[in-house]
Parts: sequence; C-alpha cells; structure tokens
Amino acid sequence: MSDQLAAAAAHVAEAARGVTITDVQTLAFNYQSCVGRDDEGHGHPAPAHTKTQTITRIRTSIGLDGYFVGGTPETAATARRMIVGMDPLLREPIWHKLQQVQRLDPRAMLDRYLAAIDCALWDFAGKLTGLPAHKLLGGSREKVPAYASTMCGDDIPGGLGSPEDYANFAKQCVAQGYKAYKLHTWMSPYGPNLKRDIAACAAVRDAVGPDIKLMLDPHHHYSREEALYLGRALEELDFYWMEEPMDEHSTSSYVWLCQNQTLPICGPETAEGQFYTRAEWIVRGAAGLSRVGISDVGGISPAMKVVHLCESFHMRCEVHGGGAANLQVLGAMGIPGEMYEKGLLHPHVDFDAEKPWLKDVIDPVDSDGNVPIPQGPGLGENIDWDFVKDNLVRDWA
Ligand code: MG
Repeated sequence: MSDQLAAAAAHVAEAARGVTITDVQTLAFNYQSCVGRDDEGHGHPAPAHTKTQTITRIRTSIGLDGYFVGGTPETAATARRMIVGMDPLLREPIWHKLQQVQRLDPRAMLDRYLAAIDCALWDFAGKLTGLPAHKLLGGSREKVPAYASTMCGDDIPGGLGSPEDYANFAKQCVAQGYKAYKLHTWMSPYGPNLKRDIAACAAVRDAVGPDIKLMLDPHHHYSREEALYLGRALEELDFYWMEEPMDEHSTSSYVWLCQNQTLPICGPETAEGQFYTRAEWIVRGAAGLSRVGISDVGGISPAMKVVHLCESFHMRCEVHGGGAANLQVLGAMGIPGEMYEKGLLHPHVDFDAEKPWLKDVIDPVDSDGNVPIPQGPGLGENIDWDFVKDNLVRDWA
C-alpha cells in the first residue's frame, strides 16, 4: 500500500511540475430567488424572481480546473490576458499582478472579483492534492460556531419591522441551536433611527437572556456622537461587538470612538486596501477586533495574511460573510478567531434554498450551533452541474 501511495504522490508531483494556466472563463445561469435589494443594495424578502449567477473557471494544462461561484466576464478577460502561461500554484505573484490592476482599472479587479480568481486557484490546488483548502493552509478545526446574522430591518408584518420582531426571531434562532445573533437594523429607506436600534437590541437581550452573544451592525453613516451614544447603550446590554456605525474611510473617527467607550468595535469591513488597511487600523487602535472576508480583501490568500497579522497582535479576527471559501479560512485559523456568519437570515426566507446550484448545503447548522468545515477537495463545494446546464444563460467563454 505504501508503494502505491508513494507512486500516487509522485504522480501528483509530476503533474504539478510544469503545469500552466491555459484559460480563465466564466459562465452564467439563472435561478429563482426570493431575495430582492433595497436602494442601498441590502437584501430583503421579495416575490420569487429570476436572478443570474456566474461561475469562474481556471483551466490548466493538465486538464484539472479550479472553480469559484462568482466573478465577471470582464475580470476573466483581464485575468486571461495577464496570467495565462503562469503556474497556477504560484498564487502570490498572480495575486500581486492582478491586484496592481486595481490602481488604474479598478472595475475589472474589485476585491470581490479578484477573490474569484484567488479562490479558484485554491480550489485547483485542493483538487490536485485531494485536500480541502484549509488543510493546505494549516488546518486547525473541523467545525466552527455560527452566529445567526439577520437581514436589515424592514416594514414587513412578522418580518423585521419592530424591536419585538427581532426579539421573536432571536428566540427562534436560539431554539435552533445558535449561541450568537447579530442584528442588522434599519437602513434607508426604513431608517436610520438611533433610538429604535437601541430598542431592538434591548428587546433581543431581554428575549434571549445573558448567555447569548449579541452583535449589532447598524446604519453605516451615523456621526461620531451618534455612534458613541449607540456604543454606550450596547455596553449596558453586554453586547459582544458593534460594526461599521460610521463610514470607514475616516480611521480617526474609529480611533476616537474606541478611545471613548469599551464596547469592541469590529472592523474594517468595507474600507478598501486589504491587509494594508487592516494593519493600519490595528496599529492606530481603530478597532477592538479586526475582520476579514474573502470578498472584502481579494481572496483566501490575503485573508490569511490578516489572520496572521491578528495573531501577531493577540487580536481576535472576525471572518465576514458566509460561503465555502470563508469556511476554509475559518478552518485554517490558528487563533480562535470568531464565528461563522450564517445568513443573511429572515423569518420569511429559507436561506438554504437560495443556492439551488449546490447539491449540498455548504453551511448546515447543527443543534449546538456549529457549522462543519467542508472536507471535499479545494473549496469543498459540490456544484450541481445539471442544474447549471439546465439553466444556462451563457456557456464558458
Ligand atoms: Mg457588516
């Protein structure tokens, strides 16, 4: 048996030697969604309607491909021009080469699109070796605690239209096994409303008791004084963190907020600049815990740099957003890290049914509130290619 394994390993090593990228492509397919968008782009329940999803594919000279659900034809075209002929296992020079495109042509290589290329490369590396990405990165755990992350507030009866609605939904989530719950409160056109934000947080704390971790993601354009008023109220309610109460481009405002209250601020989320920006926030004391999501920083490779940065500063690191690639990062973190963000959830939406292109739910929550780290090779997603082909809008190109 050991001879067979050695031969198999030698075969993989031989395949990896001299492998090159031959193409970067996308396809598009339709699916039915029950989530619509408000003026700011936040998701809310909506009547069933058709949406289009893309998949990015990186082809290689050995006939093995890497995939990522997401990306755009423009990103694929830019990447094709720049990385065909390169070794798909050399993720670092590929990432830096593509990241530098952001300076003069940011549209094609926004961090969330750059992430499609980097994650597809990790998917390829995992498929080549037969291992999930988190084990190639330095695996640390096989499951992670999840938190229930709500949609933003609305005016839907029985939805998220009042503090009581948030409290009722929190009780439902706790009954399912969740040990933590994050409110996204009212954004435009339903808010903002500082007092109602606090009332919702108080109602939830009252409903779930003292042992459930609670977090708040409010309106993102409060003033310093409003953010401080909110932060101090959440201290009283023993909240675990607050995120993005102000525009994140003013790092000084976040330093000021952290100096004037003790509630941990989790950030940045939307500020551009990947690990460079996270380093500045940590050094300046602009956050109590840092955060990274693969779509926010351009993939798994830069996300792990933020994880290691946090480890170096004894700082917690929250992984923003869900999906297979973020789960692989959570499975690889050597520091405890924070929880998996499951959502965005709403009393009227079956979140798991929103991804009909996957054969298995990627992030099922067990009765203890944990989500398993996907163990399949690469990102560990089991794409339903029959569904994709049956609903094809545009084939690989
Ligand atoms: Mg947020």
